[in-house]
Amino acid sequence: MFDLVLFNGQIAAGGGDPAPGTRAVAVRDGRIAAIGDSKTLLDQAGAGARRIDLAGRAVVPGFNDAHAHVWKIGHLRTTMLDVRGVRSIGELTEKVRSFGARLAPGAWLVGRGFNEAMLQERRLPTREDLDAVAADRPVVLTRTCGHVYSVNSRALRAAGIDAHTDPPFGGEIVRGDGGEPTGVLRETAMGLVTRAMPPPSARDYEAMIDTALRHQLSLGITSSSDCGVSPPLLAVYRDMDARGVLPARVNVMPLRRLDGMAGPVPLAEQHVSGMLRVDTVKFLADGGLSGATAALSVPYRHAPTNGVLRFEDGELRELCRESHAAGWRIATHAIGDRAIGQVLGIYEQLGPHPRGYAHRIEHFGLPDAAHVARAARLGVIAAPQTVFLHSLGRNFRQYLPDALLPRCYPLRAMLDAGIRVALSSDAPVVEDDNPLLGIAAAVTRKDAEGEPIAAEQAISVEEALEAYTMGGAVAAGDDHRLGRIAPGACADLAILSANPRATPPDALTEIKVDMTLLAGRVVYER
Ligand SMILES: [Zn+2]
Repeated sequence: MFDLVLFNGQIAAGGGDPAPGTRAVAVRDGRIAAIGDSKTLLDQAGAGARRIDLAGRAVVPGFNDAHAHVWKIGHLRTTMLDVRGVRSIGELTEKVRSFGARLAPGAWLVGRGFNEAMLQERRLPTREDLDAVAADRPVVLTRTCGHVYSVNSRALRAAGIDAHTDPPFGGEIVRGDGGEPTGVLRETAMGLVTRAMPPPSARDYEAMIDTALRHQLSLGITSSSDCGVSPPLLAVYRDMDARGVLPARVNVMPLRRLDGMAGPVPLAEQHVSGMLRVDTVKFLADGGLSGATAALSVPYRHAPTNGVLRFEDGELRELCRESHAAGWRIATHAIGDRAIGQVLGIYEQLGPHPRGYAHRIEHFGLPDAAHVARAARLGVIAAPQTVFLHSLGRNFRQYLPDALLPRCYPLRAMLDAGIRVALSSDAPVVEDDNPLLGIAAAVTRKDAEGEPIAAEQAISVEEALEAYTMGGAVAAGDDHRLGRIAPGACADLAILSANPRATPPDALTEIKVDMTLLAGRVVYER
């Protein structure tokens, strides 16, 4: 007796083919009860079972977006100004002007998503640009990467930043000729403004989480990670879980250090339920490549900078040691080779984990061959974003030194070395967090203009599918129940209009998610 039988389909998971003739999946009590041929499972189904004829379509394990910023996805879809896709400073400021007209007088205007490589002027917006359209309220715009702010004069004043303000360690207050701040703040210096902003309410946070997780379900994503949350946001997640209102599974990673705060955030209480996991802490060792704040061993092409290391070695080492000893998994953002070296050096000295957890490096963008070998030896899990090649490839080609471009997100090398890879989107850093776009980019290595980036680092559709499902399950410690289509696993499934493993790479993004199931319940239907 089953609750549900999906039949007459193609079972497409990473990591090997199912036995020939496997065309059906049976579900009981939220778990996969059996897989097999359609007739056998339909015969066993029982009168009460729901039957869904897949008519040849594909079933894949629900995607796992191993590195996303769930609440920020939701923020952009609720109360924040979305400036992704703007093509000039004029278009950007016009959006700020019209959005501001809808806000209460003096209220903060927050927006996100510009990318100067896509702007006609090829530069970051400054306080003068923003003052011209919104002088009467503080304005804070986050660059698409989340590592740079452009703010107006009112926001600088509210944060107490003037010509004499020293930036915090790991941050930069960009200044003009007379020493006056231009309104551009990088990395930890953003915290000076963040701490002056009114924080979202618990109700705001709940709306963001709910909106974002429903958006993910529409893409076939049934589990994801919210990589970097503050204590108030964590409290909202815990409350939603207690009330049973989380629409999808989330691995929430508390931050141990918040920009703009003096000391570290104390370790939270660990929590693992069916829908919510809190046992990974998050650190950021450097910035982003597309905004030239990732810490490189050599200068960027377009500017005399090597990027930013956000932590002094000793502080990061001590916080990692404490988290590790207390039984937490550690996920550290490290993109540039200098940051990757710092983090591997620290992980190397941690010794065996009290619970046997493997630590993670988020992004792992520009490792050299020795870094790849060291990460493999240490059993480090990598959580890279091949979708960056598509959406930020133009920045990479403009900003990265020639020597580094060929080893940009080297997926082939990671897999060949035996590193467990969890693919992910880092949304809302990129606008399109469709896993099939990330899979296509892993296979084609092409940017949005069709230019290849380190084409020899391509992986297969099967490998990419595995990394976008089981990879994330392993990275979160959920591989005993998620990431595969096999008896006993949670019935988290996506039904696709076509089988990605039988689709030419350039047509992968034409595949539609027809239906998403979570614990055997249909939670999205196209
Ligand atoms: Zn991120």
